Amino acid sequence: MVKENVSCKSGCSACCHTQVSITSDEASLLVKQIVSGAEVDLRRLRLLADTGNNAEEFYKLSYEDRACPFLGAGDTCTVYENRPSVCRTNHVVSEPVLCETRDGQEQAVRLLNTHRADMIMMAFFKNSKENGALPKMLWKALKRLEKTNSNAVVNKL
Ligand code: SF4
Repeated sequence: MVKENVSCKSGCSACCHTQVSITSDEASLLVKQIVSGAEVDLRRLRLLADTGNNAEEFYKLSYEDRACPFLGAGDTCTVYENRPSVCRTNHVVSEPVLCETRDGQEQAVRLLNTHRADMIMMAFFKNSKENGALPKMLWKALKRLEKTNSNAVVNKL
């Protein structure tokens, strides 16, 4: 029943071109995925990390460069099984066209009501050491790893 009314479908990556927030713990988990071989676009990661948490700067980038560094071939998520909490809980019930941000503008979309999950996530974010835009948080976590490790991934940074 829920699945039938949700607009999100495989191959749609509209929300992966918006600013996704994660916690420092999630950034550390994503770094582990990279070290274990998950595909990440380091060029895009670096470009996106430079925009920090600033949505205005983020939306100045081209649509292609705004793609999440984990968005891989066929518009699929390379860390799907271990994707951040925000990517798991946002389910759109309005028309998919409203999710489009090719013109650099976000439009109001209707999300599935997930009060309980939202409350857990709010507590999770509130109690995190730090949180912010995925590229910025991931870049910081990779840089921390760089200081302690000579891993092949880190050497590419
Ligand atoms: S982690 Fe995966 S699902 Fe989340 S924004 Fe990036 S590509 Fe999309």
